[in-house]
Amino acid sequence: MKALVIERPGASGVKVIAEAKPAPGWVIIRVMACGVCGTDLHIFQGEYLGGFPITPGHELAGVIEAVGPGVERFAVGDRVAVEPNIPCNNCEACLHNRQNFCENWKAIGVTLPGGMAELVASPENALFSIGKLPFEEGAFMEPLSCVIHGVERARVRIGDRVALFGAGPIGIMMLRLLLLQGVSDVTVVERNAHRLAIARASGAARCVAASEELRPDFYDVVADATGAPALEELAPSFARPGGTVLLFGVPPAGKSIRLEPFAFFRKGLTLLSSYTSLRNSYQAVSLIASGRLEVADLVTHRLPLERFAEGIEAIQAGAEVMKVMMLPNG
Ligand SMILES: [Zn+2]
Ligand SMILES: [Zn+2]
Repeated sequence: MKALVIERPGASGVKVIAEAKPAPGWVIIRVMACGVCGTDLHIFQGEYLGGFPITPGHELAGVIEAVGPGVERFAVGDRVAVEPNIPCNNCEACLHNRQNFCENWKAIGVTLPGGMAELVASPENALFSIGKLPFEEGAFMEPLSCVIHGVERARVRIGDRVALFGAGPIGIMMLRLLLLQGVSDVTVVERNAHRLAIARASGAARCVAASEELRPDFYDVVADATGAPALEELAPSFARPGGTVLLFGVPPAGKSIRLEPFAFFRKGLTLLSSYTSLRNSYQAVSLIASGRLEVADLVTHRLPLERFAEGIEAIQAGAEVMKVMMLPNG
């Protein structure tokens, strides 16, 4: 089968490799859509967990091609999306229901071969049925599950005013989820005009190009979906007394920001982060399948495996790119 292989940071190519046979409790999936996300960029650049060579791709949906011994809930031909994080369910973190911090964590597309290949192996218990949902939409299950986890952690309340930094695919999904949650208005900060227009069309009450246009001490929740330290440093100043700051975007490792502890004390702020997801895949599929949260319109690029580098370049260039979908089977 064909698989995209990142041999070392910055060097990738399509290779013909042996097809995996399904192990007991595992299935083989023909990958029909696999989203490219910021994590793939970090992997490509050698800035993330896991070693090389690796086949990336952790946002995937497809059709079951083969099932291993003992697989009971799924059959050949089923349409599924994959929760890529595989916890051991036996370490202390897992036993405390914090599987996202599993000490024996494995992940499809990070430590295990991923979805940027014609076929990928997955444990049965990582599969979610997507029914008749288009594969591209199923491939949004994983990023949306992370967004759901973040919004749940922030305990967003009905009627809240929110400031949201960033209107990439994650920021737009967060905006749409916040509106479903019943917030009264969301102000989106985004310097990319194309993305800002999508935020406006998605129901943002105010769209601004720079954080200077936000009101200080005003928002119930200030959420960052950029991971830019300069913005994350400013976030607490816009939160109202008693408000919440959610650092959601993936920041670069090793960079620091300055915070004034007295401001946190005086305003009684809650500072939160959010790491991957915690059993939010079922919620994500339900939201997409019900039509309550649209994701299909976020796909701007559809590429065969051979054009992965082009997808990476498009994401880095920014301009009019939202979600890049790799289509390993055409
Ligand atoms: Zn991702
Ligand atoms: Zn564990």
